[in-house]
Amino acid sequence: MKVEFYKHNIDEVDIKEVVDTLHSTFLSTGPKTRLFEEKFARYLGLPHVVGVTSCTAGLFLALKTIGLEPGDEVITSPMTFIATPNAILHAGGKPVFVDVEKKTGNINVELIEKAITPKTRVIIPVHLYGQMCDMRAIRKIADKYRLKIIEDCAHCIEGVRDQIRPGQLSDAAVFSFYATKNLTCGEGGAIAVHDMELAERLKVLRLHGMNKSAADRYTSKYQHWDMVELGYKFNMFDLQAALIVDQLERVETYRKRREEICRRYEEAFSNIAGLAYPIVLPHSDSARHLFTIWVSPLKRDFILAALQERGVGVAVNFRAVHLLKYYRETFGFREGDFPEAERIGNSTISIPLYCRLTDEEISHVVRSVVDVVR
Ligand SMILES: *Cc1c(COP(=O)(O)O)cnc(C)c1O
Repeated sequence: MKVEFYKHNIDEVDIKEVVDTLHSTFLSTGPKTRLFEEKFARYLGLPHVVGVTSCTAGLFLALKTIGLEPGDEVITSPMTFIATPNAILHAGGKPVFVDVEKKTGNINVELIEKAITPKTRVIIPVHLYGQMCDMRAIRKIADKYRLKIIEDCAHCIEGVRDQIRPGQLSDAAVFSFYATKNLTCGEGGAIAVHDMELAERLKVLRLHGMNKSAADRYTSKYQHWDMVELGYKFNMFDLQAALIVDQLERVETYRKRREEICRRYEEAFSNIAGLAYPIVLPHSDSARHLFTIWVSPLKRDFILAALQERGVGVAVNFRAVHLLKYYRETFGFREGDFPEAERIGNSTISIPLYCRLTDEEISHVVRSVVDVVR
C-alpha cells in the first residue's frame, strides 16, 4: 500500500472557477482577487486582506512597511520553515531566534523578553503545525517594548486559542496557499491587517509602487497612474484567486476531518514507548496542518527510511533553522544554542494528514509507525 504524504482538496467547483476565469478578460489582479480578498477577510473577521504571490512575499512586504534600519532585530522561532528568517534578512533585518516550548514547538513566550534589545522592532510568532502561539502574552510584551507583531500563519488559518484567532492581536497576519497548505492554489499568500492605510500601502508595494492597479486603470476609462514608491511584483492574480475562492466555504469541513484523523493518531500513539507528539493545549483548537511524531534522534533517519519502505509518505518539519549551513556560517550558530528546537528538529517526522486519506490508509500509517518504532 502506498500512502501519499499529501493530496490537495481541489475539486470540480474550483476547476470550473478557473476555467470561467480563463474565459474572462482579467487574468491578472482583478475581480476574482478582490472577491477572494473580501471573502477571506470575512472568514477571518478582519477588515482588510491583500492577496500576494506567497507567504514569503507577504512576510517580506509586511516587514518592509515597518522600514527596518540596518541592524534592526526581528525575534522569531528557530522551529519554522526557512521562509520566515529569510524574509527578515531580505527586508534588511537580523533574525534573533528564541527557543521553543517543549510540548508544542511554539516560541517560548517566557524567553522573549530576554532576547529584546534596543534594536528589536518586530516579533514574528509562527503558529507551528496549526496551533496558535500565546498571542495575548506576546501582545503584552510587544506593547511594553513598542514592538510590532507580524504573525506567520502559514500553518494556521483555522486555529483559535483563548478565543483569539489569527490576525486579531497582531499588526499583520500572513498566510500561505502553497501546494501542501490547508488551503491551496499551488502558490499564493495573503496579508490580513486591521489598518486601512497599511492595507493600501501593501497594495501599492505588491505592485511596483503603482498607485492604481491594472483593474483600476482599465475597467472604466484609462487613467494615468503614478509610481509613489519603489515597490515589488508580488500581486496575487485572478487564476490563483479563482482556484482558492470556493475552498474557503469548505475550510471548516476539512478541518473537522483532519481533527478526526489526528485524534486517531493520538489515540494509537499515546502509549507507545519511544513515540511522542506535540500536544494541543486546553482552550486551543489547532488548525491541524501537520501531524508530527517525535522519535529518538538516534533512530529518526532509520524510521524515516523504514516508513517510506512501507509506502508511507513522510516529511521533516522542520530541522532547526539556525543549524542550516547558511545560518551557521553567516551568524555563527552552533548546536546547543536552542536546545528545544534542536531536539524537535532531530526527532520529528511528519506523517500523512489530509482529508482524502481513507480509513484503510490511516490504519496502514498507524500500523507502520507502531511496528517501525517498536
Ligand atoms: C510554507 C511556509 C512558509 C512559506 O510559505 P510560501 O507561501 O511558500 O512562501 C512560511 N512559513 C512557514 C512556517 C511555512 O510552513
